[in-house]
Amino acid sequence: MYHLIVVACLASSPDICEPRLLPAAVSDTEQNCLMRGPDIANDWFARHVEVAPQGKLNCVATKELPMLEVKEIASDSFVHLGLAEQLSLQNQGRIANLSFVIGEKSVAVIDAGGTRAEGEALLATIRQKTALPISHVILTHMHPDHIFGTEVFIEAGATVVANARLPDALALRAASWKESIPAQIGARAMLGTHLPTIDQKISAPTVIDLGDRRLTLTPIATAHTDNDLTVFDENEHILFSGDLIFQGLTPTIDGSLTGWLDWLKQGAPQPEIALIVPGHGPVQDSWTAAIAPEEHYFTALRDTVSALVGKGIALSRAVPQTVSTLQPQAGAWVDFDATTARNAAAAYSELEWQ
Ligand SMILES: [Zn+2]
Repeated sequence: MYHLIVVACLASSPDICEPRLLPAAVSDTEQNCLMRGPDIANDWFARHVEVAPQGKLNCVATKELPMLEVKEIASDSFVHLGLAEQLSLQNQGRIANLSFVIGEKSVAVIDAGGTRAEGEALLATIRQKTALPISHVILTHMHPDHIFGTEVFIEAGATVVANARLPDALALRAASWKESIPAQIGARAMLGTHLPTIDQKISAPTVIDLGDRRLTLTPIATAHTDNDLTVFDENEHILFSGDLIFQGLTPTIDGSLTGWLDWLKQGAPQPEIALIVPGHGPVQDSWTAAIAPEEHYFTALRDTVSALVGKGIALSRAVPQTVSTLQPQAGAWVDFDATTARNAAAAYSELEWQ
């Protein structure tokens, strides 16, 4: 397969340029790709007015594209492990775990990456494994590190599937993320990144069939966010939990601490789980081991913040006191102090009203 590559430069800073992969021009031969290229590039730049084309377009073979490192965790199930870090200029937003499952007829992507560039690298990785169409991009929740790579899959023909509450949650945050995310990961890393629209909104368990490969999508009550969704691979018994499960990186509460604890305490969501792919951290083979660090952390957080609220301690004092009380757990988590301070503030506002 041959893939169209254009060079796009930021209109506001013309010295910041990056190659972009435009999947709509994918062709069996270089010549066909080059023939279709100009119209597709014109159309793309018309929809991405913040960038301008530079130089000639180019068509390259799949093996020449930048790839992500992936591991085949079960038959036709692949996972790219993100870095266990918060967003930074160095990691360019590449911190979330990204997966894809290949059926007899098509491919589903589960989380699309933190930028257009990471989504392109994921697409190139999939193309190295299979030429089947990518029918679905499933978003486990709204956070930028999971969804900012989606648009390239839309251009490749995929249907975007998410919790029915995701579009409203995204609309609320889109304007602030447009400023804050480039500040954290850099304008170059973000170049050409547009937020996705959702085609299929899930409000009850739904099965997607990729051809002898069934995925069950389940929307979850407010926990990590108000728009979490899990994916269960019925063939290989893999639970893709999204950020309902963190390992390594300190979990961030952007929904409800008590809701999240309720989800953890209700037990394994499927009777037979062979593997669990968390949103951040290594793949797990035991439900109990997968959730233990998080349950321990959230229980201590809830008990500590509840006690401080009960004693009438003000938020400004409760936050540092909580970080200090939870210190014995700090060794188990990356970015513990800063994230725990934010979680303590979120927990305080939630528990204050209970
Ligand atoms: Zn998240």
